[in-house]
Amino acid sequence: MFIDVSKCTGCYSCFLACKDEYCGNDYPGYSASQPSTGHYWMRLVEKERGTYPKVKLDYVPTPCMQCREASCIKSSKNGSVYRRSDGIVIIDPEKAKGQKEIVSSCPYRVIYWNEEKGVPQKCTFCAHLLDEGWKEPRCVETCPTGALVFGDMNDPESGLSKLRSSQDVEILHPEYELNPGVCYVGLPKRFIAGEVILGNQPDECAEGISVTLVSETGMQNGKTDHYGDFEFEGLESNKDFVVKIEHEGYSPREFSVKTRTDINLGEILLESV
Ligand code: SF4
Ligand code: SF4
Repeated sequence: MFIDVSKCTGCYSCFLACKDEYCGNDYPGYSASQPSTGHYWMRLVEKERGTYPKVKLDYVPTPCMQCREASCIKSSKNGSVYRRSDGIVIIDPEKAKGQKEIVSSCPYRVIYWNEEKGVPQKCTFCAHLLDEGWKEPRCVETCPTGALVFGDMNDPESGLSKLRSSQDVEILHPEYELNPGVCYVGLPKRFIAGEVILGNQPDECAEGISVTLVSETGMQNGKTDHYGDFEFEGLESNKDFVVKIEHEGYSPREFSVKTRTDINLGEILLESV
């Protein structure tokens, strides 16, 4: 699965489609029915960034990562969690009964305990539907913005493979070293923003002012927008940057910042010379 975070609007259609497919429905060999509350097989992790008035909200859709080195498989007994030849990791709803320890074996925290049935459960990539000939799972089919894409990574001609090769994809928590089958673009990073005001025109929006971001790896040039605002997005965490604001006839300003968090430089006054 390929997930473009920049296209996710947080509408929760994927989450609801998953509930519709699994709540009250048993799929023997694939999954026991999902409880109506408490399980998030497709979880939308909300990431709020910045400080007022420069605030952003991103949603990171998070199903099971279908890891190639899955820790849930290693922790399970009796072959109750296994990886199919197509890469999908399945928790057998019969064999896994009573194995609550499987829930905590996943560092992505995408396995849930079904108290009523005494079984660990998670996203199955809708394997029962794929085995019936469906081309994609319910959550992917229902996403109105195309943020979720499903396909065969081993087929170089599949839409998924083409998307993967055309963009810089990332995985969640590479430090877990579980080699996930779910990849992302547009994961939230740090941003630096601010607003420029010209000292001798305080009631006008300072549009088109040159703003330059300098780091040890290079330089980005930008301009303030119609409102005098600027923003540099997609920056690495904990890196040093210098922001330079220059406009002919005004004294330049310069700020040294470190992206420990997102940074709002606030109102920046340029005085005329
Ligand atoms: S994300 Fe967690 S539950 Fe899914 S395969 Fe990886 S380790 Fe197992
Ligand atoms: S792939 Fe299927 S099981 Fe997994 S989150 Fe989507 S709808 Fe739910």
